[in-house]
Amino acid sequence: MPGTEKRPPDLFSHTPGTSGARASVSERFKQFEHRQNELWRLTLFVLFVLTVFFAWTSWDSVRSLTHRFEALPIGLVVLVVLFGAYLWRKTQEISELRGLMRGLDQHDASPPSDKQLDQLFEMISRSQQGYRDLIDSFDDLLLALSLEGQIRAANRSFADLVGLPFQQMIGRPLADFLEDAEGSGRQAVERALPRFLERRQWSGVVRVRLKARNSVQYFDCVAHAMTRAGVVHGITILARDITALRENEARFTELFESLQEGIYITKPDNSFVDANPALVRMLGYDSKEELLARPFSEILVDPAEYQRIQREAEGGPMVKGREITLLRKDATPISCLNTATAIRDTAGHVLRYQGALMDITERREMERRLHKEQEFARRLVDSFPDLILVLDAQAHCTFISPRIKDILGFEVEESSDIQLGDLTHPEDRAALQALFDEVVAGQQTFASLEVRVRHKQGDWRRVRCHFSPLFDASGKIEGVVISARDVTQLKRLEEKLIQAEKLAAMGQMIAGVAHELNNPLTAVLGVTELLRERTDMDETVRRQLDLTHRQARRAARIVQNLLEFSRPAAPQKKPLDVNGLVERTLQLHEHSLRRNQIAVDFHPEASFPPVMGDANQLIQVFLNLVTNAEYAIREVRDSGRIQVRLRCSAGRVSVTVQDDGAGIPPEALTKLFDPFYTTKRPGGGTGLGLSICMSIIREHNGTIEAETLPAGGSAFTVILPAMDQPQPVLSPMDTAVHSTGALRQMADILKGRSILVVDDEESIRLLLQEGLSAQGLHVDCAASCEEALAFVRHAEYAAILCDLNLTAGGVGGSETAERILGTLTRKPPIIFMTGDLAPSSDIRSGAGQGWRLQKPFRISQVLSMLAEIICVGNETLTT
Ligand code: ADP
Repeated sequence: MPGTEKRPPDLFSHTPGTSGARASVSERFKQFEHRQNELWRLTLFVLFVLTVFFAWTSWDSVRSLTHRFEALPIGLVVLVVLFGAYLWRKTQEISELRGLMRGLDQHDASPPSDKQLDQLFEMISRSQQGYRDLIDSFDDLLLALSLEGQIRAANRSFADLVGLPFQQMIGRPLADFLEDAEGSGRQAVERALPRFLERRQWSGVVRVRLKARNSVQYFDCVAHAMTRAGVVHGITILARDITALRENEARFTELFESLQEGIYITKPDNSFVDANPALVRMLGYDSKEELLARPFSEILVDPAEYQRIQREAEGGPMVKGREITLLRKDATPISCLNTATAIRDTAGHVLRYQGALMDITERREMERRLHKEQEFARRLVDSFPDLILVLDAQAHCTFISPRIKDILGFEVEESSDIQLGDLTHPEDRAALQALFDEVVAGQQTFASLEVRVRHKQGDWRRVRCHFSPLFDASGKIEGVVISARDVTQLKRLEEKLIQAEKLAAMGQMIAGVAHELNNPLTAVLGVTELLRERTDMDETVRRQLDLTHRQARRAARIVQNLLEFSRPAAPQKKPLDVNGLVERTLQLHEHSLRRNQIAVDFHPEASFPPVMGDANQLIQVFLNLVTNAEYAIREVRDSGRIQVRLRCSAGRVSVTVQDDGAGIPPEALTKLFDPFYTTKRPGGGTGLGLSICMSIIREHNGTIEAETLPAGGSAFTVILPAMDQPQPVLSPMDTAVHSTGALRQMADILKGRSILVVDDEESIRLLLQEGLSAQGLHVDCAASCEEALAFVRHAEYAAILCDLNLTAGGVGGSETAERILGTLTRKPPIIFMTGDLAPSSDIRSGAGQGWRLQKPFRISQVLSMLAEIICVGNETLTT
């Protein structure tokens, strides 16, 4: 053996040179030949077994390795062939030796020479060296043991393993160098030995602890019995170190068992080869065996899926993860990501499929929920009435809601790269930026600001923006969310409301002023009327008196109109004289028209049919038309003309207000009656006037038409249904009796009658006392309820004229009347004098609480009323 010069003691211990010795040599050679043959057979057998065993055990693992190691078995075959060749050469040598021995036997008489013997020894020595070299060339361990376990021979691989030279190894028990790693070595060997002796061979994997290294290693062993004359006297062991392989296997097994992904190995015939515990768990089976007993396609919702998996696995080196649906044992489906590959033999035939399954049911559910939430958030933002903007910290817009189309006229795509302030009015930009910076810096949490933003069409919209910070996952401010609301309309309405409130306040004020003016006007009218009765004045004084009286009447009409206009709008439809309505409208606006040098051309139409309507509302319509006409004229000239024409045809009356002002551009004609359409400068108009007019006229079953005139200016025509039967329309001032004859007649009727006047206004008391006394009536005047009661206790009156708004003594007109009537058995008629607007129907009919006499009145009017009440309808009084 290498490393030792010791000769084998049993073969090489003879002494050459004697005939007796020659016979012994012959005998020995026979033995030698026999043992040679035995060694031959053993070696060949070991080699054969080794080759077959190796091929058998390692074929699968070699095949399944990523790199192709199929060449290994081929290499082994080549090695065996080489070994055969080597043996053949040795056989030649042995034949030579055998020939030599025969020669020796044949020349018994002549003993072999020393040279021949040296030749023989050298040949034997060479052969033995060859065997040593042979077994030393194995990487695997080769051992020859006695049945007691002593090492008889070993190759270099074993010496290297235990780390000792041969001298210190041979003859020592194997147990000195290694022990069974499981701790049951000796007993196990003793248990297994009888069976081995019977079978004479054993193979298996052993796990041993090397004492020198204190390491555990795996060996794949093949043991054979060594026999001599049919008796086992020793054991040969061929062992291969498979520690690395075993460790790999162990690691793989551990991985296979502990992976969270389900791993499967299947055969092309749809049966399972193996599955890891994760897959068993994933599919809800109780054990691996239960799962493996089923065909693979049974765990697929669609059994045809298996063919697809196969096709894909065969198609490429590794199928990319594809989603498939598996069926759990309890029939619930689960979504999995499958990655499969096909394993083939050298001929390219598919042996198995193996794949990994990742359960993504939860992920899919989360994705579904996330998608739902995103969808919800998207819908929420879409349906939100405000425009939502998300800006990053650099004020660049990262999100904009579709509402931008409604509010600013832009498509979302058009506005994707908008920067804060891009569309904002230059005057508002600084404030907007400052607020944004404060929110980004965390100085403000919620803030709002109203800015002007340009619409795509170019006009400015008022937008109220609410700022709130946008936090990232770590709570840092990463941007700002702005919700912007278009408040343009709201602002207009607010302005309109303010204006309406102003107007209402003005109306109240006007009503109050008008009411207060009634008493002095009544006095002026009455006194001038009384004076005019006198005959002892010259012509000049009479003319001046007439002038004063006429102007007082005019003032009274204005007051009347103001009162009518400012009265709360409770539509009261009644037959109306359109001429009168237009006149009143023009009177109301007379001052402004005169100041702006606008002449009015209006000719009342005699016997014009009345219309059914609310006087206030219709006056409001005409007033709006006249105001607009005036504005249109002032836009283009310093003075102008407004023509008002009345027409009647086919059961309809029309009132046209025509001006020579700016006219109406054709494109504006269709929008004139839209609410808030105005061309007036801010604050100049609300754009509501014509739309209110239109709704009033429609409510009166009429319409308004607008036209622009070829010669410039425009015309607005109100068309209303005419009433069928012309009816007399009365106005308080018309009830005055003008003829002196009639007046005298009434005075005669009333002569000597007593009248009680109750009014806290001295001028009225004086007027009535003087005016009525002059006509032969007896008049008592009381300033309060108390005074009146004192009068009625002592005298009887034909009628009582009582101020409805009596304030002196704290008792009102109605209550005073009640108290007076309460004390009397024969109740006189009560005529209430009022500065407020009285419904015309009440004035003469006496409906409600007494009769009404509208201030300012004339004495003739009072006389006419008294005559009518006292003489005609005493018995019909409703007090
Ligand atoms: P406003 O007077 O507040 O503007 P209106 O509804 O009364 O509201 O009028 C709407 C618009 O119609 C006016 O702004 C003006 O452009 C136009 N308009 C009305 N009357 C005339 C007119 N007589 N001539 C020219 N344009 C007119």
